[in-house]
Amino acid sequence: MSGEEKILLPPGSTIGIIGGGQLGRMLSTAASRLGFHCHIYDPHISGPAAEVSKFETNGEYDDLKRIKAFVEACDVITYEFENVPALTAAFVETIKPLYPGSFPLKIAQDRYIEKKFIRDEANVPVTEFEKISSLDDLKKAIIKIGLPAVLKTRRFGYDGKGQFIIKSQNEISAAWESMKDSPAILEQFINFKREVSVVAARSQLGETASYPLIENIHKNHILHRSVAPSVPDNKNAQNIALKVLNSLDYVGVIAIEFFEQENGDLLVNEIAPRVHNSGHWTQNAGCVDQFELHIRAITGWPMGDTNPKNKVEMTNLIGDDYRNLNETSKTSKTFIHLYGKKTVKPGRKMGHINRIVN
Ligand code: AMP
Repeated sequence: MSGEEKILLPPGSTIGIIGGGQLGRMLSTAASRLGFHCHIYDPHISGPAAEVSKFETNGEYDDLKRIKAFVEACDVITYEFENVPALTAAFVETIKPLYPGSFPLKIAQDRYIEKKFIRDEANVPVTEFEKISSLDDLKKAIIKIGLPAVLKTRRFGYDGKGQFIIKSQNEISAAWESMKDSPAILEQFINFKREVSVVAARSQLGETASYPLIENIHKNHILHRSVAPSVPDNKNAQNIALKVLNSLDYVGVIAIEFFEQENGDLLVNEIAPRVHNSGHWTQNAGCVDQFELHIRAITGWPMGDTNPKNKVEMTNLIGDDYRNLNETSKTSKTFIHLYGKKTVKPGRKMGHINRIVN
């Protein structure tokens, strides 16, 4: 059998997923189509992913005893969110294969380490940035970078949380106070033309694949809508994705978010070492979707077809949006995906709709 034909993990094997939210749920569903079993590790019982999976272990993410028992019951491990504690990821790797691994997690968990790695190791352009540990650092960085600028916490920031846009000199102290002494970075404010992303993957065998460019529209800092394949395209996005995948020696699906400038140049904003909300459109695009692609990549299967046959518009169902789906469910070329979350909260992602545009 040649290397390319080799299937490393046979159907019937068990894939462990750390994190039991909607991404875990959709990974588990994709894995079951290929004949795998999934085992979910999450602190909460019977969440969106566990509900559709064969096995579940509940425990805190830093409870290494529980983690050990979970890992020993699986053949390969992955994660659905990037805040898995670094110690836990490193521990898992000593027992079983963990994909994409603890190194991409370490990069993605800290905006400063992330931007530095992407700029200096992957050789890909990012927004100008400076490391900030004090008010004095901030004042010096503003002299270098200028205003407006964006101050962001290095860790645990998502959907615009932990961010302050500094427009004038007299906002500097308030911006620093809002960080509550957390280490931060200052970034140049980019007047981008569009926000775009790419979802790509690299397999255990080094095979790579990617989807076309995705255009993203945010509302209140949360992703609202993604459309793909995006027109106009920006071919450079895929080249950048390949550079990042190879520089991380990556296995699995990655998402890379960019600011596209007026002249078409792309700056990487951030990477997500996992399947991503901006890739949900692939579920109804007529090709292998991002969830199956990740499962294929981490089990050593061939990557399959990532060329969409349809243009798809994905809209997130946030909070109460998901209650009135009666009309939507009658609409042609429209597909509803719900996550089975038991309680609705403002800002909580409850599901999404994929509408085939052509
Ligand atoms: P982030 O948490 O870094 O993904 O930022 C959330 C959103 O804030 C992005 O999707 C952008 O809309 C906006 N944003 C973040 N950083 C910048 C920046 N340097 N310049 C302009 N807008 C930004």
